[in-house]
Amino acid sequence: MDNSEFDVIKKYFTFSSHREDVVIAVGDDCAVVAVPAGKQLLVTTDTLISGVHFPVSTSAEDIAYKSLMVNLSDLAAMGATPAWVTLAITLPDIDEQWLSAFSNQFSAVLSDFDVSLIGGDTTKGALSITVQAMGLCNQEKILRRDQAKPGDKVFVTGYLGDAAIGLHAIIDDLNDEKLSACVDKLNRPEARVCFAEELVEYSQCAIDISDGLVADIGHIISASHCGAHINLSELPISSSAQYYFKQYHKSIIDWSMVLTRGDDYELCFTVNSENERAARELADKYQLKISRIGEITDSGRLDFVTEENEVISFSDTGFKHF
Ligand code: ADP
Ligand code: MG
Repeated sequence: MDNSEFDVIKKYFTFSSHREDVVIAVGDDCAVVAVPAGKQLLVTTDTLISGVHFPVSTSAEDIAYKSLMVNLSDLAAMGATPAWVTLAITLPDIDEQWLSAFSNQFSAVLSDFDVSLIGGDTTKGALSITVQAMGLCNQEKILRRDQAKPGDKVFVTGYLGDAAIGLHAIIDDLNDEKLSACVDKLNRPEARVCFAEELVEYSQCAIDISDGLVADIGHIISASHCGAHINLSELPISSSAQYYFKQYHKSIIDWSMVLTRGDDYELCFTVNSENERAARELADKYQLKISRIGEITDSGRLDFVTEENEVISFSDTGFKHF
């Protein structure tokens, strides 16, 4: 192989697609897709930069997996069904082994979600991966940040804080087998796609937790012009995270770790009392843990409240690049 960018594209980024709505995929100046009548197109993009969004030691497979999942998670946050992605990749060199591992994993995740890679860009430089994901949703069903209403119950999927602990375990070389589930959560987040596709029947408002619950629920309350009362005792902490706090934090839960770091990729959504039961049944259907963590209020404040009714405030709200 003479290693031109076109050979790389052909060998590693040209997958066969079974989607009938892909008119032209990789190979022309633009991709062409057919958006079905009655659906709206939802578009999102996220960049992962080596050393910023993942430790430099992260494997090609994990980078491929995560670069797709973080984008699929944005689609899930709005109730969309993923359909197509583009991939803009910047590589320091052409490392066949790395590219092969990346490509195989990328392709596997795409197949799992019936998503087609329809185009992209390939350049040389420090390792960086930008995926743009496109999905479809019925117009009136889209989940939005600005649709929370006072009285709605606030739910989250899964557990919070594991990825932050996983990152800490890697960066500080904790080398503790018992934290491997947290490292997995960092490298292999699960976008809650199937659950969200059906959640649109029972909820109008959701966000994915990428920058920590404090920041992300903060986006909901500012967009919806409301407040929220969140009970710390209801927040879902995994057994691995509990082990971590016991072993490394004097058995005290470090709430800033749970609530203000990134990479959870769980959903936070609101449902009114009428739909609460249906939302729980839906979670059961997908064997997905959901926790009711509080309620939307009209206070304009975001209150995190202890069992003793003490209100905790967080000064450090989410990862910021600048
Ligand atoms: P152009 O110069 O016309 O912008 P490129 O040479 O960048 O086109 O890319 C050629 C074709 O390969 C295009 O269809 C583009 O979408 C696709 N492509 C380039 N890089 C990637 C990639 N990493 N993954 C998928 N498709 C890619
Ligand atoms: Mg062109």
